[in-house]
Amino acid sequence: MSSVRMQIERELRSAIAADVIIPHYQPLVALDGDRVIGFEALARWESSSLGRIGPDVFIPMAEEIGLMPLLSRQLLRRACLDAMTWPSTFTLAFNISPVQLRDPTVGLRILSILAESGFSPLRMEIEITESALVENIALAQATIDELRAAGIRIALDDFGTGYSTLGQLLSFRLDKIKIDRSFVSRLNESNDGRVIVRAILGLAKGFGLTTTAEGVEDAGQLAYLKANGCTEGQGYLFSKAVPAADVPALLNCMPYTSAAA
Ligand code: C2E
Ligand code: CA
Ligand code: CA
Repeated sequence: MSSVRMQIERELRSAIAADVIIPHYQPLVALDGDRVIGFEALARWESSSLGRIGPDVFIPMAEEIGLMPLLSRQLLRRACLDAMTWPSTFTLAFNISPVQLRDPTVGLRILSILAESGFSPLRMEIEITESALVENIALAQATIDELRAAGIRIALDDFGTGYSTLGQLLSFRLDKIKIDRSFVSRLNESNDGRVIVRAILGLAKGFGLTTTAEGVEDAGQLAYLKANGCTEGQGYLFSKAVPAADVPALLNCMPYTSAAA
């Protein structure tokens, strides 16, 4: 193992022990009127010695060293507390990693944190990557069923990258598909990109699923997504993920619906 990696790993262990890795929040925007309807929690780690390290690096590392369940519990606890201060109709979207999905107790753990914090499962959305789902079909289904029975919605993250077959997709009881950023970024470049996104939107609509486009960065992409019936969007065009303390300011400059749905 390289010494850089060993150093990151050592710092990661102490960051988790000190509970200093925290969620930031990126708005989820309903495309009928560009209103904020909730936030996705994205883990952020600012190491005092190494600087900012991205979740693409430390989440897989935490999985490898067996600390992801602990880190995920810390993040979910904090996210629930933060989300309790938002307008009462807002959803909280939370990612669970492929390794976590192999743990048959993960559903129970999520539900007990919600119960402890008093955050309603009806406002919670759990994001599972398409590849994680396909890797662990039987266990994933049991966890999904358990969460959905409690009222939590399930979103299939990074859709289009995990090689699931239509049959596999249909056998899961899902609520939402998140179209991977790689497809959204191709909307401007090629007709192929547009054909793929339109096909995914049509498929999702046919199955009664909500759709979120990830990585919306410009007005052209947004217009295409709206014209083809995409329900929600997320991306730098609206906002990057912000610390909990900056959520009120963000809501001051972006429209949102606070009335009960
Ligand atoms: P993801 O769940 O697909 O999250 C979306 C990623 O795209 C985030 O990167 C977000 O900052 C980034 N993004 C959002 N809008 C745009 C845009 O318009 N353009 C571009 N170029 N990027 C955009 P981030 O925060 O670095 O997270 C990377 C991945 O790490 C996430 O991908 C997710 O798989 C994982 N992750 C983050 N937080 C958690 C967590 O708390 N638990 C677990 N299990 N995984 C997490
Ligand atoms: Ca996600
Ligand atoms: Ca994603």
